[in-house]
Amino acid sequence: MMKACVMGWPIAHSLSPALHTYWLKAYGIDGDYTRQAVRPEELRAALTRLKTDDWRGCNLTIPHKEAAMAHLDQIDAAARRIGAVNTVVVENGRLAGFNTDGFGFIENLRAAAPGFDAKTGPAVVLGAGGAARAIVDALSAAGAPAIRLVNRTADRARTLVRDFGGIVELVPWDRRTIALDGAALLVNATSLGMDKNPRLDIDLARLPKTALVNDIVYAPLETPLLRAAKTRGNRVVDGLGMLLHQGQPGFRLWFGVMPEVTPALRQAVLAAMQ
Ligand code: NAP
Repeated sequence: MMKACVMGWPIAHSLSPALHTYWLKAYGIDGDYTRQAVRPEELRAALTRLKTDDWRGCNLTIPHKEAAMAHLDQIDAAARRIGAVNTVVVENGRLAGFNTDGFGFIENLRAAAPGFDAKTGPAVVLGAGGAARAIVDALSAAGAPAIRLVNRTADRARTLVRDFGGIVELVPWDRRTIALDGAALLVNATSLGMDKNPRLDIDLARLPKTALVNDIVYAPLETPLLRAAKTRGNRVVDGLGMLLHQGQPGFRLWFGVMPEVTPALRQAVLAAMQ
């Protein structure tokens, strides 16, 4: 039986098993996808074990996405640019690392906001963590003419701007409202607005009504940002779709089928969130 898993610490919250077991069943694949609680000091051994048995690979979540890079045999270009790996594939006894968050982000926009084109105008990205780096990478590849990067900690934002350069422009956190002028896309890639976290404090008055607003936080599904944007007439996209779409490349590499993101899958994963 072909096996894959998600490694993290803690791991109980991960929705990846709900996602991948749904697809295994839907496509009638004789495979298994499990949760593995792996402490940081156990990561190297846990990854090495993947080379044995019938393991096809794994997903990595907090706190392993960056640390795992030292233990892999090869890392694809996007994961190297982003500085984090969320998908590992066993290929001929070697461990190959990928980052599929950028793919998940852009595919979610394509699916949930038909007609949206990143080339239309400047994007405002709030955050400079691993998710923001993947989003900046994906928006650059999708042809965004400018990316205004806004992060609370200036040093972290400066590192991102240095690494991606070109079209990425640094905007201080206290000027986030002004950064919305003329934007075609606003993305929240901070953890603000998540269940127990403070809400994102931003005045949307300067954001054009034509702009698309995406919150990658998906718990709750409708964050205060999305509610405010919807109320003033902006098109909004929630973050659950990014999670579903980022799973597609890994599933294809492990199990040989490019799976679809469907309303039924979304319902199954939403049920697992309850
Ligand atoms: P991370 O590396 O820990 O980055 C967290 C970001 O949030 C940083 O930019 C941080 O700013 C900012 N932040 C945290 N608390 C803040 C506060 N009180 N005020 C202002 N900024 C604050 O996390 P990540 O992996 O990038 O993930 C970010 C969020 O995206 C999480 O909520 C995660 O669940 C979600 N996510 C969703 C998906 C999806 O598929 N939908 C995928 C990945 C991540 P500083 O640099 O100033 O600390």
